[in-house]
Order: sequence, then structure tokens, then C-alpha cells
Amino acid sequence: MASTDNQDNVLDNSTDDRNTKLEKVYKIFDELCQCPICLKLLVEPITTICGHNYCLSCLKHLLASSNLEKTCPLCRENLSYLKNSRITINFILRNLLETRYENQYLERIAEIKQDVLDNKDKISVIKRLLIGNYHATINTGYEIGAHRWTLFIRFADDENDMDIGTYIKEIIISDPATQEHVLDAPPYRYTMTGLQSRTICLNIEFHSRFHKANLRTDWNLCFTGIGNQKSIELEFIN
Ligand SMILES: [Zn+2]
Ligand SMILES: [Zn+2]
Repeated sequence: MASTDNQDNVLDNSTDDRNTKLEKVYKIFDELCQCPICLKLLVEPITTICGHNYCLSCLKHLLASSNLEKTCPLCRENLSYLKNSRITINFILRNLLETRYENQYLERIAEIKQDVLDNKDKISVIKRLLIGNYHATINTGYEIGAHRWTLFIRFADDENDMDIGTYIKEIIISDPATQEHVLDAPPYRYTMTGLQSRTICLNIEFHSRFHKANLRTDWNLCFTGIGNQKSIELEFIN
């Protein structure tokens, strides 16, 4: 509790001092009030175990979005605990937000309600994308010890490439040994012969209805065993 001395000091402060302090408080508060996920005004704020603040709807979306580990987008703290516990709104922060932003806060509430309505018929699909290569050593003519390799891009649950074309529009392959190569329909395979392993860059474009940014990744050709692959989890909102 503030002592009488402190109260006197506060009262003694000039109006200018108070305004400067107030401006500082507003500035800090305004910075704090942007949700790091949606980059808009925080609504129904949740303070996580690491002390960061997110909109309730943004956090729910993060927790529901995929099978990946749930981590704080700002500091990577594990947020899996939120899946099994009651998520509690930071009421002090909410009251401050409502008071400072009034109509803007109400507009955000309405916006989120509309988003929920717009998305209620949409389905989230998780796909596991496999990128890798298989290879064989060939010993014919001048190509002794060369590798006949095939780069593949496919879905884990889609052995015959029946499904992948629904999601992927095209893949641009940048192979340092040749020119750019565009794969515009499945099966997404790229076969070459060579002696040396190298890194192939991929730019994967999805169909526009998924509103998904291109996936840029690369693959280092593997000539040991039968080859190798990596897996990337992708979420599509249909
Ligand atoms: Zn948000
Ligand atoms: Zn955090």
C-alpha cells in the first residue's frame, strides 16, 4: 500500500511530469497489447506460463492446428500443458484493454465471432510430405560408379500419387548441375545420373484455395543404402 509520503509526492508532481509518465505507460501498454500471432489488438488475453500474451482464439488455434509440439511463438516455451488444463483469461489485462480501446476492442470481438462463423464448415487436413531420393549404382560404359538417382516428393499416405495433385500445384526444382526444372503434375519425380551428391532446392507451390505460402526447402542427395528421406508435416484448411 502506498504511504502518505508517496501520495504527497504524487500530488506534488507537476501536470507535465504526470503526462510524461502517462505517455510512457500508454506506449508500453500499446506495445504489449498486440497479439504476436494475429498482430492485432489482443482479445480475451491469455498469459502463458512464459509470461507472453495471446488472444484466446489465436492460442486455441495454435493448440489445435497440428500434431507438432506446441511451443510459444515468441520464446519456444512448451505450451502443451494448456491442452489439458483450463485456459484462464487474464482479467486485469482484459479490463485494461476494454477501457483503453473501447470500440476497437468490441470490433475485434465481432471480427473473431465472424471468423468462427466463416470457418465453421472448414476442415483442417494434416498431410505428411516426404522428400527424399532413392538411387542405384550403375556400371555401364563410361558411367562406372555413377548413381542413377530419383528425387521424390510425395505424401506418406498416398503411395500411388492419387491425392497429392489436389494440394500441390507445381514444384520448381533447382539442381545446381542443370537448369531449373518444373514439375507441374504428379508423380513428382526427378531422375538424373551423376557421380557426386549435391543439394537440390525445391520451391513447392500449393493450389490457391489453401491460401498457403510456398514451401521452400532443399534435399541433400543420399547415395548410401537405398537412399533416404525427410518428412514435413503440412496443414491444409479446406
Ligand atoms: Zn491474436
Ligand atoms: Zn513465451
